[in-house]
Amino acid sequence: MHVVTRFAPSPTGHLHVGNLRTAILNWMWARKAGGRFLLRIDDTDAARSDEAFVAAIRDDLAWLGLAPDGEERQSARLDAYAERFAALAAAGRVYRCYETPEELDLRRKVLLGRGLPPIYDRAALALTDADHARLAAEGRAPHWRFRLDHDAPIVWDDRIRGPQRFDPATMSDPVVRRADGSWLYLLPSVIDDIDMGITDVVRGEDHVSNTAAQVQMFEALGAAPPAFAHAALLTGAEGKLSKRLGSLGVAHFREAGIEPQALVALLARIGTSDPVEPVVDPMALAAAFDFARFGRAPARFDEGELAALNARIVHQLPFEAVAPRLPHGMTAAAWDAVRPNLSTVGDAAAWWQVIAGPVEPPATSDDDRAFLHAAARAAETIDWAGDPWHALTGALKAETGRKGRALFLPLRLALTGQDHGPDMAALLPLIGRDAAVTRLRGAG
Ligand code: GLU
Repeated sequence: MHVVTRFAPSPTGHLHVGNLRTAILNWMWARKAGGRFLLRIDDTDAARSDEAFVAAIRDDLAWLGLAPDGEERQSARLDAYAERFAALAAAGRVYRCYETPEELDLRRKVLLGRGLPPIYDRAALALTDADHARLAAEGRAPHWRFRLDHDAPIVWDDRIRGPQRFDPATMSDPVVRRADGSWLYLLPSVIDDIDMGITDVVRGEDHVSNTAAQVQMFEALGAAPPAFAHAALLTGAEGKLSKRLGSLGVAHFREAGIEPQALVALLARIGTSDPVEPVVDPMALAAAFDFARFGRAPARFDEGELAALNARIVHQLPFEAVAPRLPHGMTAAAWDAVRPNLSTVGDAAAWWQVIAGPVEPPATSDDDRAFLHAAARAAETIDWAGDPWHALTGALKAETGRKGRALFLPLRLALTGQDHGPDMAALLPLIGRDAAVTRLRGAG
């Protein structure tokens, strides 16, 4: 079967890290199977949906490299919902209710007080045509519930959670349409999944009880339910996903210098038995993707782990991939020289400054001053065509008897203004003869 997945965010806010993970799982599963990955904008809630968030969702997916193969939006499909809804109404699978939120709340409290589960009592099913006519005459518009079939357990074999079984008698008939005619999420989602040929619904385990109701909706609409995979939710490093972490989105990670590949590589693997690895090509992650690797325990999202993974990704990025983000004039050779020392691509600017100069001359001891004088003279005479750093340090070692730290550190300080940094053998040719001589003289 041709795999079709969908990522279905509501454009009522920015995508957060949990949404991004759901998108990545759907993308990987579709890519692995050579199938399709759809973006579905769940914008039936017109008051809370915002076009700016729709644009931001597209941008976020593009930044992550998760281009969808198609985009759908629920607000364009209201006719399809109305048509299927009419069929369900004719079949008695949706029914009219008039209880106010306060009434429902009170009934729930009474049931809970008696130690009973707070399930809707289906009182509205007993209403007669005359009752409906009277309520309509009073100007009361109904909301609609989906009538769950209590005859058989709801079962599905979840790709992550394994066999699932729900007793529909323990569930409230879900409200699917409001009194103003607007839609709640459950039914339009099922209609979309049918019409768009969705084969796999991959989402967080907060949707498991929705799935139980939706399985019956698929059946009521004459369709076989798709396969379901519910991933355990994310938690922060210290247990629960904090409010702050849970609300972090692409903008935050981007600002922190996180590469999209790092975020994808981490979110693809946390919560699974596969190791988190610095995989630059997300297609490689897709190829290795397997629901069987997912555990039932929450997936631990650790920003420290993300930062470390990011550095390992940056160390692999070729010059062409980062050139537009580097300071003006920075060369491929300079990128290659400083790359192993970077945590983020943005850090390259400081090292380019070290190469291009000017650098702040360090405070030098009398002892080192004489040594650096000798170094400036040696720098003028060595062969710069080959490996000037080894030529320079070799000559100075022979001349002064210095070795190790005493030999290298004053040179590094004088040449770069820093006591640490990229390999001097890579930096020195980039600094070049004239600048090197000047810097050594300036420090000496
Ligand atoms: N719009 C729903 C949400 O964001 C979609 C859930 C689903 O994947 O079906 O939770």
